[in-house]
Order: sequence, then structure tokens, then C-alpha cells
Amino acid sequence: MKHHSKNFTFMKEFEIFHDIEELDNESKYLIHKAKEAASHAYAPYSKFHVGAAVILDDGTLVTGSNQENASYPLCICAERVVLYTAATQYPEKKIMKMAVVAHRKNHKELSPATCCGACRQVMSEFEVRQNKSFEVIMLKSKNEWLKCVSAESLLPYVFKRNNLHE
Ligand SMILES: [Zn+2]
Repeated sequence: MKHHSKNFTFMKEFEIFHDIEELDNESKYLIHKAKEAASHAYAPYSKFHVGAAVILDDGTLVTGSNQENASYPLCICAERVVLYTAATQYPEKKIMKMAVVAHRKNHKELSPATCCGACRQVMSEFEVRQNKSFEVIMLKSKNEWLKCVSAESLLPYVFKRNNLHE
């Protein structure tokens, strides 16, 4: 039954936690830091404040938040801000794990938010350039924390540079 075994492999890439306390300490720490970063979001248009935090292979923490603009297409997501910051400040270090959280303005409670497709594409290329996958944690729906083994698991059959140059 090839079909079933393939499906099983797919599901192993994701874990759901119904309580944040079920997550490992490093993940909880990253979520906490992503929440702090969300307070630095510039989101006067969407009022949707997003924070992202990554931990690097030596324990260094880097955070980012979404940054909007009156020219809407120029808005950039927290995930890309944190990745580009990490790549610039710590080019030799590898990203081990990322957490992303969001909340609406003046809402203390987190809003479920998963990474957009554009960020998944960028996150996936970071795995290629550092030759290592990294875990991604986000709030999928109320009381459902999703932990993915890799960014690529969020974007199956992703377009990569070997599509450009064989
Ligand atoms: Zn995005």
C-alpha cells in the first residue's frame, strides 16, 4: 500500500500541541521573544501585529516584526525581516528554529497565523543556503500550536535554484 506509507511520511512532518506548556523550553522561549517582537510591528493598515524569532546554532536570538507602508505592496512580513536580519548580522551562523506569532491591535490574546506563501518560499531557500532545515512553530488555530520539522515541509515541491541551473 504505497499510498498509505507516503501519507504517513507526510504527517510525520507536523506535530500539534494543544497547550503551549507541552512544547519544549526552547520553543516556549522563542514564542515569548516573538511576542515581544510583535510589539515593534509597524502595522497601521492591517492592524495585524506579527513577531518572529529565530535561534541560531550558537544560541543567538534574532527577532523581527512586520513593517508596513502606505504603498501596500512594500509591506514586509516578520518572517522575512528576521531572516534577512539574521543573514546580515550573523552570516556564518545557521538558523535552528523559528517561531511566529500574531495579534490584532489592542488584543492581548494571540491570533492564529501561519506563514504566507511568499515567506515559505524565502524560508525554504534559507534551508538551501545553510544546508540545514529548521523547525517552524506557529499558532495554527486557537489552542493548536503547529511544529513543523522544516520550512520546506510547509511548501512541498518548492521552486529552488536547481530549477534554474541544473
Ligand atoms: Zn509572509
